[in-house]
Amino acid sequence: MLKLYNTATKSLETFSPKDPKNVKIYTCGPTVYSSPHLGNFSAYIYWDLLLRVLKANGFSLRRVLNLTDVGHLTSDEDSGEDKLEKGAKREGKTVWEIADYYISSFKSDFKKLNLLEPAVWARATDYIEESKSLVEKLNKNGFLYETSDGLYFDTSKFPTYADFARLDLKNQKAGARVDFSSEKRNSSDFAVWKFIKPGETHAMRWDFLGRPGYPGWHLECSAIIHKELGEPIDIHAGGIDHIPVHHTNEIAQTSGAFSKKLAHFWLHCNFLKINGEKISKSLGNIITLKDLEEKGFSPFDFKLWLFQGHYRSERNFTISDLESAKVRRKNWINKLVLLYQLPESELPAPLEGFQDSVLSLLNNDLNSSSAFALIDEKSPLLSLDDWKFLDSLFALDLFVKDRTPALLLKIRQRNTAREKKNFATADKIRDELLSEGVSLLDSSDKTFWQLA
Ligand code: AMP
Ligand code: ZN
Repeated sequence: MLKLYNTATKSLETFSPKDPKNVKIYTCGPTVYSSPHLGNFSAYIYWDLLLRVLKANGFSLRRVLNLTDVGHLTSDEDSGEDKLEKGAKREGKTVWEIADYYISSFKSDFKKLNLLEPAVWARATDYIEESKSLVEKLNKNGFLYETSDGLYFDTSKFPTYADFARLDLKNQKAGARVDFSSEKRNSSDFAVWKFIKPGETHAMRWDFLGRPGYPGWHLECSAIIHKELGEPIDIHAGGIDHIPVHHTNEIAQTSGAFSKKLAHFWLHCNFLKINGEKISKSLGNIITLKDLEEKGFSPFDFKLWLFQGHYRSERNFTISDLESAKVRRKNWINKLVLLYQLPESELPAPLEGFQDSVLSLLNNDLNSSSAFALIDEKSPLLSLDDWKFLDSLFALDLFVKDRTPALLLKIRQRNTAREKKNFATADKIRDELLSEGVSLLDSSDKTFWQLA
């Protein structure tokens, strides 16, 4: 039985979707204006584990992931520059070129990490008609008002607005949410549609209500979910930074337009930090997968490191911890590698109860670190089938079998050289293999290889 921590109820709940053959999942996607970093990917790696655990429990999934290519301002609220415009200025490109470039960069890293492809990659600008129609519905239902810079959602018309994030709106007025626009009725009100004033430059623009404008950031998620999944969905996931503003606003929009609950389960992952600070573009401390690869790590070492913790805990990233994760992954691969080299008659059978135990640990709110402790303990006893099962859950690219034909040839050549007492050639082959990351272990009648 799968239990997940639901932010909406602040409790661990049994996950029992209405239609197990069509579990509807939406994960809020990246804003495609700069290189995706390890912080962004930590979210998608955790959600990939979620998807795989759901599948292992027998559910069939439909997952949608959006790509924000318009409307997300440099502040998470309604002030500052549009992030895409900012990216375009920085790189001397058009906003469309920026979006295309960073979408393909995101997708390429997504593939490198072997994350499950969503059923729909939903690009915000492909849902403008749906976004406009959402605005019209909200307007018709009396939730919107107009200011000089856009159409705003009147949060006072939605009495449960503060509930999801347990917001203290009264105190907020003087605090966190700076009321930048004197025209706003309540500090928590947010733009669903922004107007482009005469003389203002904003490359992405659509005519609506007789003038040019563009959608507010939160709108796309409500519009995409309505079109691609239909409310209520089973799971909505994102980073904890989404709780007080973005997800709170999505809920208000969907309820206001369709009088429907948006999602049954809300999952939020905590931040990835470095030197105690959140990894983010604005702090200038970003690390990308490419940076890790240049330091000799595989993207899967990072994944393994991440799974050593829990998605709801804050993580502090260090290279020395990543080194340890790399060694752990190599040790697992070597257990598997040994199995390749055993004759079929000596291969172990699946370890009784092991796969069920791993799944039941993960079924406790994705407790991957406990599952890892069990893998370490049982690794010498695991069968090929057990490792396949683990790879289907964690996708850590443990199977390196494709290297073996060339490798086996070299090992045979070395053994022939040894038989002919041509030790110089034998040692040369051994050193060559070592430089390729493979070490050899000679037993009385056989030579085994493993990752060095
Ligand atoms: P953004 O591109 O800023 O919209 O972020 C895309 C996703 O990455 C969101 O779900 C964020 O919550 C998540 N995210 C961004 N930075 C971090 C971080 N340092 N740690 C964890 N998640 C992050
Ligand atoms: Zn969203």
